[in-house]
Amino acid sequence: MSDNRCKLCGRKLKNWQSIQRGLGPVCERKYLEDIYSNQQITFEDINQKKGEVISNGS
Ligand SMILES: [Zn+2]
Repeated sequence: MSDNRCKLCGRKLKNWQSIQRGLGPVCERKYLEDIYSNQQITFEDINQKKGEVISNGS
């Protein structure tokens, strides 16, 4: 549980948000850009999915 390292570069993570994601801020951005470029997901798609989660979660 103490393996708070970036999955991509192995750098130790200090920010709790980074630890939760398992990625440092720089690598997270690269990782997301990679996902978007591969799957061509737009921020609108993500917002729609969030809306579905919220409406289904109650
Ligand atoms: Zn990294």
